[in-house]
Amino acid sequence: MKKNIHPDYIGCKITCLCGNEFETRATMPEIKVDICSSCHPFFTGKQKLVDTAGRVERFQKRYKDYRKQIDKPQE
Ligand SMILES: [Zn+2]
Repeated sequence: MKKNIHPDYIGCKITCLCGNEFETRATMPEIKVDICSSCHPFFTGKQKLVDTAGRVERFQKRYKDYRKQIDKPQE
């Protein structure tokens, strides 16, 4: 490896919004994440809304209206 161009690969503490913390190695001593393996729906099997300013809610409302429209019997 070339000297002085590589960042240090150090121990890193990952902190998730769900409160989970774990150690790994990275070039930064601390990383904050929104979602991790203990709160991601793929691993929990539950639905988790990663909601930003009600965007999910708005989508669900719009989607419901959309379903209503296409569920209408066709003539
Ligand atoms: Zn998490």
